[in-house]
Amino acid sequence: MAALQEDFTLSNGLQMPKIGFGTWQITDALEAYGATSAALAHGYRQIDTARVYGNEDSVGRALRDSGLPRSEVFVTSKLPAEIKDPDEALASFETTMAAIGLDYLDCYLIHAPWPWHDIGRDCSAGNKAVWEVLETIYRSGRAKSIGVSNFNAADLRVIIDGCSTRPMVNQIRYFIGHTQEDVVQFCRREGIQVTAYSPLATGKILRHPDLRAVAERYGKSVAQLCIRYVLQKDVGPLPKSTHEQRIRENADVDFEITSADMALLDGLSDTDKVR
Ligand code: NDP
Repeated sequence: MAALQEDFTLSNGLQMPKIGFGTWQITDALEAYGATSAALAHGYRQIDTARVYGNEDSVGRALRDSGLPRSEVFVTSKLPAEIKDPDEALASFETTMAAIGLDYLDCYLIHAPWPWHDIGRDCSAGNKAVWEVLETIYRSGRAKSIGVSNFNAADLRVIIDGCSTRPMVNQIRYFIGHTQEDVVQFCRREGIQVTAYSPLATGKILRHPDLRAVAERYGKSVAQLCIRYVLQKDVGPLPKSTHEQRIRENADVDFEITSADMALLDGLSDTDKVR
């Protein structure tokens, strides 16, 4: 599956596999270990976790047990969204590193610009302060790249103006019908790689009748169509599944959506509202 071998080059030159494996809501330790192990066995070379997912230990164990050289797998984790204090941020990174049991992360992200219980709150000062901690971690080599998640252009501007190291990644909610063009264009201009969380709208998009019709034209599933669409937008999809067959299927995306179908898919909205 060639798509699994393709990389983006981040602004600091680091190679990041285009497709990553998502692990949100895989809280059971055995299930997280099993799903991550299956993803690695099927050729995924990027794993996305977060301290708040509660599975960093299982992800790290699956990677260590896989027998793969550490350098062949790109591991991302995240600073919890509510932490906006530098000392707490450093302590949280150490907690992540102890749980995951690796010498370094490939990418470390601020999970969101605001706490999840207070979405939209202006945390500019806190974001700047914790970004400086991420810069220190980056300089130490314990994170090979650093970035953010759920940041809009204004949130990013706060970080970019005056920082010494720019964010290399912005991980945002992105799927057919929800492509956040303003954020993506901003990131493109600023050299920040966009990655797509919830590329299947956490499963809500999969019964969409229009998507089913397009997918059938290619002899592919709706999930495969959704993942391929994200790749053709030059964004990095992070599909999650706990089922081995789907984990495999989601990486089997070596086909080309025509420009006419891309335009059709670009025109859709509210794709996650299908009953
Ligand atoms: P996805 O959009 O990847 O969808 C996952 C859902 O679709 C699950 O219910 C899964 O079920 C189902 N599914 C997966 N593949 C298939 C398939 N081929 N056929 C049918 N059903 C399928 O979900 P997420 O919202 O989890 O997003 C992906 C990842 O993005 C997360 O796991 C996480 O790593 C990251 N993320 C980051 C966030 C952030 O704030 N930075 C927020 C949300 C997600 P099953 O598991 O039962 O197979």
